[in-house]
Amino acid sequence: MTESFLIEDALKALQKYWNYSNFRERQAEVINNLSRGENLIALLPTGGGKSICYQIPAILHTDLSIVISPLISLMEDQVSDLKSRNIRAEAIHSGHTWGNIDRILDNCVYGDIKILYVSPERLQHPLFKERVLKMNISLVAVDEAHCISQWGHDFRPSYLEISQFIDEVSPKQIIALTATATDKVLSELVKLIFRRPPVIIKGSFRRDNISIRIKETEDKIGVLLKLCAQGYKTIIYVRSRRQVQMIAKTLTNHGRAAAYYHAGLSFKEKSKIQERFKLGKLQIVAATNAFGMGIDISDIQRVIHFDIPPSIEEYYQEIGRAGRDGKLSYADFLIGKNDKKYNKQKVKDSFPPLDFANKVYKFIHVHFNIGLHEGEGMTKPVKIEKLASKFGIPNKKLINALRLWQKLGVWEVVEDARSRTYCAITLSPQEIRKEENRLEDSYFVLDYFMRHYEQLFTGWIQLDIERDAKRMKIPLTELNDKLDYLCGLKYLKIYKLEPGTKINFLKNRISSHYLEEFKLKYDHLKKMSEERSKGISGFLESQECRMSYILSYFGEIEHKNCGMCDICNAHLKLDNVTSDIEIQRRYNEQHALRNQHLRNIE
Ligand SMILES: [Zn+2]
Repeated sequence: MTESFLIEDALKALQKYWNYSNFRERQAEVINNLSRGENLIALLPTGGGKSICYQIPAILHTDLSIVISPLISLMEDQVSDLKSRNIRAEAIHSGHTWGNIDRILDNCVYGDIKILYVSPERLQHPLFKERVLKMNISLVAVDEAHCISQWGHDFRPSYLEISQFIDEVSPKQIIALTATATDKVLSELVKLIFRRPPVIIKGSFRRDNISIRIKETEDKIGVLLKLCAQGYKTIIYVRSRRQVQMIAKTLTNHGRAAAYYHAGLSFKEKSKIQERFKLGKLQIVAATNAFGMGIDISDIQRVIHFDIPPSIEEYYQEIGRAGRDGKLSYADFLIGKNDKKYNKQKVKDSFPPLDFANKVYKFIHVHFNIGLHEGEGMTKPVKIEKLASKFGIPNKKLINALRLWQKLGVWEVVEDARSRTYCAITLSPQEIRKEENRLEDSYFVLDYFMRHYEQLFTGWIQLDIERDAKRMKIPLTELNDKLDYLCGLKYLKIYKLEPGTKINFLKNRISSHYLEEFKLKYDHLKKMSEERSKGISGFLESQECRMSYILSYFGEIEHKNCGMCDICNAHLKLDNVTSDIEIQRRYNEQHALRNQHLRNIE
């Protein structure tokens, strides 16, 4: 059975919830196909409004839609965004305990949730499965679908669970979305996710309005400051949270309107930066790869790479955020003297020898008192420094080993900088009003919640208690005390998630003997990682047109040189003052030629 809807209704929903009057070209193509009940793979560039492609059908379909997504912060952001548009959405991921998941699934059954985001690790958990199998599922959307492929740049073992999950829930419609996929990845996707042949929507990867330049320099900061002084709206991509802060600070000290952005910031902080950047109040954002997905800013004029990204796929996604308005933009790559060497070392370090990793595996289980054939579903908070010193190794080495086991699907290491508080109320509004006298100086808390949280009586809601305390004009500690008091009287249920690093155990502990099983997988992942790293270093060394190199990488056979990169023309070197002007001239020339050509065709 398939599920269909009317295009007019899709447009109405777009207008009602997003206040847009029309879909973009590719979105319209996707929505058209989905409205007819087709299954579909969409290869859409980031910033191309990917999420609307499944959110609109999810709103129009009768039953629940499930979105499988790999990034917790992205999930949380999307859910907050949907809620702010009055669309009922929830997320289930490794940051939640089972009690919390129970609450969310309750809301799905009784609370009219339209969209449920789930991380792939949660799909096969008995608690989740038992409940979901009883529901009717209209749509399953697989976001960042390239993660399912062992050939993809971001392979996640847990994504393989999707295949079985789809068999079990038999959704009426399936859509897979990704920004980058080579042919090899695409065919694996079709095989693993779809039970009937999907429609594939794919445009060329060529971008005619991006000029790519690479510069080796011993003074990256100096060049960076020079580039930023030109006043262009710029994203600087850096690989570590510490570095983004340092760069933003340096730029601010030099009088530039700059901020930093990474996944550890709260949704509110991130939205604020996006908004200010969009409005031009910020000129520069120094960011980790967390900046981009789900962000729709069309007039970014320059993307600077300050570090070497792990693959061409990631690099291409990141530069693709420039010039989405079609205007000329610059992708500038700064490489320090030792960057290439460090990068090679980083790839090597991320695959510590299996013998050593096995020792860490055992150590972690023993530390948490987890016996053989136990562990699955457990969540344990970890203090990396403490653990590393107990084990007698540097922090970095422990982190690399923990991450390796994450890649192998044994557990996941989650860093959550935010604490969250959820609340459910057990009385009706009438019952609460009756309690006014009895509660005396705690009544105003309930009264405040009733007035400020519209969905208070529909199930669990997330509180913003810092803001609430401020508005109530009481200290946070006092509000917490009052909440405890009200919980004690059973008027409220409160559920808190604490911040910090946690390990979620996805598999039961097995004996060291069986760890040999991971050897094949380990070798494969290591080889893939080395190949991707070779792809990007080949790009840095190559004397081929920069855009052509990328297109060949993605398997596009027919392409001509871009004419706008520093290989196509030696005059276009990055620090040459006339370079930008020359690029602009060439771009205009090409643009005029293209228009001429189009007119001739007409
Ligand atoms: Zn070129």
